[in-house]
Amino acid sequence: MTVNEILENDDYSRENIISLLKAEGDDRTLLFKKSARIKEEYIGNKVWFRGLIEFSNVCGKNCLYCGIRKGNKNLVRYNLADEEILAAANFAYKNNYGSIALQSGEIESKAVTSRIENLLHRIKDLSQGELGITLSVGEQEHEVYKKWYDAGAHRYLLRVESTNIDLYNKIHPNDSKHNFRRRLECLKSLQDIGYQTGTGVMIGLPFQTLDDLAGDLIFMKEFNIDMCGMGPYIEHADTPLIKYSEILLPLLERFDLSLKMIAVIRIMMKDINIVAATALQAIDPVGREKAVRIGANILMPNITPGRYRDSYKLYDNKPCTDDSAEDCKSCLEARVSLADAEVIYGEWGDSKHFRERRGAYLNDNEKNISK
Ligand code: SAM
Ligand code: SF4
Repeated sequence: MTVNEILENDDYSRENIISLLKAEGDDRTLLFKKSARIKEEYIGNKVWFRGLIEFSNVCGKNCLYCGIRKGNKNLVRYNLADEEILAAANFAYKNNYGSIALQSGEIESKAVTSRIENLLHRIKDLSQGELGITLSVGEQEHEVYKKWYDAGAHRYLLRVESTNIDLYNKIHPNDSKHNFRRRLECLKSLQDIGYQTGTGVMIGLPFQTLDDLAGDLIFMKEFNIDMCGMGPYIEHADTPLIKYSEILLPLLERFDLSLKMIAVIRIMMKDINIVAATALQAIDPVGREKAVRIGANILMPNITPGRYRDSYKLYDNKPCTDDSAEDCKSCLEARVSLADAEVIYGEWGDSKHFRERRGAYLNDNEKNISK
């Protein structure tokens, strides 16, 4: 089938997705036009903010691609004080962001569980319950996710990184702490508990094929995710994967492939939330705007206190590490208007897909009750 036929027939088989990911020239334009039209129709030309607080770079894991992996001794470890986290959340609240996202390295411990639980309560209190909260702190036990949900977190981002288990095993150490099955179980727990559940992958990993990426998109559709956060893989000099730099796609191709992945998932899952990942901007100065134009509707302005940002370097050339929260806000606002979109302040900007999905679920339940 031609790209035009695939898009006309809405036929997203593995083979057809691969054709879309390969699209060049007029075909590529067709793909982006369709994804932009769908975004306009289902979401509108709108963008919602999640004020991003990277509250700690301490991590118990050793993912082979990540600059803050436990084994990297070449960085200063930090852990924001509770008051600093609350001040950042208050900045988001006062600036009418609607939501924040708390992200960190992955630590599973009773102390971290109760610290986050307590912070969630305090953030809800300081904002009169108005700030929406996304968590992204890795794999945890079901009960831990439930505790945090009950304390006020209602969205969770856990990238599956790759759904090809062989590739997953190539980019992670081969031990029980880095287990693909557990990653999937965690995603399932999050969904079962009632979180708006987000996942995603890195694009342009060593050994990754278009077939893998098509499989990733099919997984997201079948798993029925509510939010998607995916972006290019970018090397970090102090990580084991750096040894494969030679076999990677050039950065601009990784970038272009990331845009195509965003466009295809927007077409396949019309009403989910899609993040314009910061890593896009590490390659193209207007990378995030491009993503907003063709399908993304969520931006995450960094509101981590400036002095810590340099130490949350997941990859080389991470942008905006010397900006302040204020700089981030005005810069992103200008960027969004460049993309002919509008920032919606003071709203959670929840995934429409989630609402529909929950609605369907409730209706099913109601049906069962009435039987
Ligand atoms: N520790 C949590 C976890 O792993 O889910 C949350 C923080 S982690 C730093 C967030 C995401 O950063 C990961 O899911 C991964 O996809 C991304 N990341 C890490 N290293 C990267 C790299 N070198 N290039 C692009 N993205 C990277
Ligand atoms: Fe830790 Fe997350 Fe980085 Fe893996 S990706 S090393 S879990 S911060």
